[in-house]
Amino acid sequence: MQNSISQQVEAQHRYFNTGQTRDVRFRKGLLKKLQAEIVRQEDAICEALYADFKKPKFETLIAETQFVLAELRMIIKHLELWVKPERVPSSILNFPSSDWIYNEPYGNVLIISPWNYPFQLTLLPLISAVAAGNTAVLKPSELTPKTSSVIQKLVSAVFEPEHVLVCQGDAEVAKSLLKEKWDYIFFTGSTRVGKIVYESAASQLTPVTLELGGKSPCVVDETAVPAQAARRIVWGKFLNAGQTCIAPDYILVHTQMKEQLLEELIKSIKSFFGENPEESKDLARIISPAHFERLKGLLSNEKILFGGAHNCADRFISPTLVDEPSKGSKIMQEEIFGPILPIISYQNESELEAWIHAGGKPLAAYLFSRRKSFQKKFVREFSFGGGTINDTLLQISNKNLPFGGVGKSGLGSYHGKRSFNTFSHQKAVVKRGTWLDFRFKYPPYNIPMNLIKKMKHIF
Ligand code: NAD
Repeated sequence: MQNSISQQVEAQHRYFNTGQTRDVRFRKGLLKKLQAEIVRQEDAICEALYADFKKPKFETLIAETQFVLAELRMIIKHLELWVKPERVPSSILNFPSSDWIYNEPYGNVLIISPWNYPFQLTLLPLISAVAAGNTAVLKPSELTPKTSSVIQKLVSAVFEPEHVLVCQGDAEVAKSLLKEKWDYIFFTGSTRVGKIVYESAASQLTPVTLELGGKSPCVVDETAVPAQAARRIVWGKFLNAGQTCIAPDYILVHTQMKEQLLEELIKSIKSFFGENPEESKDLARIISPAHFERLKGLLSNEKILFGGAHNCADRFISPTLVDEPSKGSKIMQEEIFGPILPIISYQNESELEAWIHAGGKPLAAYLFSRRKSFQKKFVREFSFGGGTINDTLLQISNKNLPFGGVGKSGLGSYHGKRSFNTFSHQKAVVKRGTWLDFRFKYPPYNIPMNLIKKMKHIF
């Protein structure tokens, strides 16, 4: 396997060195072709995601295909502007000069993606890697085989394999790929595997983006609007059956608000998914038997307030609310990544802080509160990748906002123009004029030292 992977990667290196991908019109042409191909295969993509884990078509359209198409439209529209060298103010010390930033493709990029939004999280980095002029190898998740096959078909209909190649397979394939020399690695997945990828990249000094996970808190204080907060939390939590990296992992609710919120959460779950959520067409299934068992295990020894139904044959778990798990419980020690929502009450802000700080820096955090001062404090005092006040998930919906984690939830960010920057090396170039050459910088150094200090404003 290693041999054939090495040969394919080598072919991409050779292709990159031909300079073909430096041609912006060539890149734009391929992105347009990709756009047309996604539109043409949109139904097949929806069917593949449904076959993999019954992802509702509506969710595939809004969070996978149309999400990617919107990014493609933005990139195609702005690419010619983004690739232009950017002139920046020059230093008077270098007079005469003009100073520039050139966006240069890194070269050969490896993109490893997870299963939860398998189309979006493979295609989004790909389109920016291509837009920036790189070649790329994609390693989609083995847990969504139907979607990975559609991605492979789609990619091979648009790109030559020496430009973009899909390598399907499990962790072993990913490990073989990591043995190769890459110019950039873009990884989305768990913190555990992120560390492995980071170590492997460090051994070759390869730059990385790591889009990881974590336990994202959702705080509801005593001033929140309970029915609205519940509706927005239930939507963000149970979309994709809770298998969303930025889903609220657990609720921290003020004791005065707990009862009301709980009542409204149950009302929302019933109104979204009916009395028997297994019959709802709008609830995805758990991705694999192993994840199903893991989630079931998280419920043992916990007090279930609502839900808790499951069906192993269908990998179904109903939206479940868990009451007051302890800090040391399994459910509070790992990222839940499923339709289970613990509810923990707090009495004062120091209790709240202790809970949030215990989880490390999460990928997302949410606050439902009408107190402006608390909103400000929440943003200022807690470190998290991104978040929304009085709603959930929406920080991902604006391409002008960076998407990424901090600390153990990730390294680097992307979306919109930032994605193009992520896959480009920003090369600094000073172009000097030849008609003037101040001599004072050359030895022997005759300029008085106190004059140097007086010239500080020009450094
Ligand atoms: P995962 O880390 O198990 O797998 C991700 C990818 O890594 C897969 O393609 C897998 O084949 C590969 N892989 C597995 N073991 C490997 C190894 N030893 N070496 C190299 N590659 C290996 O993650 P997952 O279960 O697919 O996805 C769920 C996780 O991803 C959650 O933690 C979630 O929070 C996170 N996630 C983060 C984001 C984000 O944007 N930050 C988005 C989606 C998911």
